[in-house]
Amino acid sequence: MMVRQIGFHAALVLVLTFLPPGRPAFPFQGESIQVRHKARALQPGEVIAFTIRSRERLASVELLAFDKTFPAFATKDTLVWNALVGIDLESRPGSYVARIRAATKSAELAELQYKLVVRPKAFPTRRLTVDEKYVTPPPEVLDRIALETKRVGAILAAVSDGKYWNGRFVSPVPGPVISEFGKRNIINGKPRSPHAGTDFRAQSGTPVRAPNAGRIVLAEDLYFSGNTVIIDHGQGLYSYFAHLSGFAARVGDVVERGDVVGQVGATGRVTGPHLHWSVRLVGTRVDPLSLIAVLGPNKAAY
Ligand SMILES: [Zn+2]
Repeated sequence: MMVRQIGFHAALVLVLTFLPPGRPAFPFQGESIQVRHKARALQPGEVIAFTIRSRERLASVELLAFDKTFPAFATKDTLVWNALVGIDLESRPGSYVARIRAATKSAELAELQYKLVVRPKAFPTRRLTVDEKYVTPPPEVLDRIALETKRVGAILAAVSDGKYWNGRFVSPVPGPVISEFGKRNIINGKPRSPHAGTDFRAQSGTPVRAPNAGRIVLAEDLYFSGNTVIIDHGQGLYSYFAHLSGFAARVGDVVERGDVVGQVGATGRVTGPHLHWSVRLVGTRVDPLSLIAVLGPNKAAY
């Protein structure tokens, strides 16, 4: 798989304010907190990795962006915190402000504003032909679909306190990408929601490996995505694998990077065997390849 080399962008801290007003300015004067980010691009569907460095030990850090709150986590060096932020697949291009809120051990609070300019991205369209029951489901499955949508939505919306993942993310199968993230779907001639995952070429039965550590929070047959496994990597980060032929993990299992969680198949709404991998980050739909890119090799600090 091609993973572009990406470098850190220079810090651009626009405004430094204090919350609540009237608190002593020390220790956030000058450049006592530095923020920088890296990403393949600032475009819909991309993951942004932030690094927050402070001269004073911080008790907590959170990052507010795109109307969501993304948790930050301390590295071994407690002067350095990291946070992953997702730009949703359907975010509008434009100028945004990320707010970094930090508290010191002595309960002093600071908010830094960091400008992010999201550039437009043109996603190609793909046309698929599948069994018509997956485009216009028969009335007897509508209740099942509604229930599954609600349950899966609740799972992916939860933000676990713990951070289970560590270090880099790896591809769950060795095969190349055959259908990119974000493509606009025309299925049996009808527009459907965009492709919120990345499809990999793989034969039926190929082991699907956990891209990072986590806990299995769903392992069952769903109407559209067939046999499905969801891994909670912690702090709002999830992997979702669809169309499996079999399961190798159960709800509640704790997995490490590389553990087999199922086998590739062609269940649910598919044109043939492949692996579909989606990533959610605090509810944002992001490209799994952007996660691999920002947390690529030698990113042990995360
Ligand atoms: Zn897919």
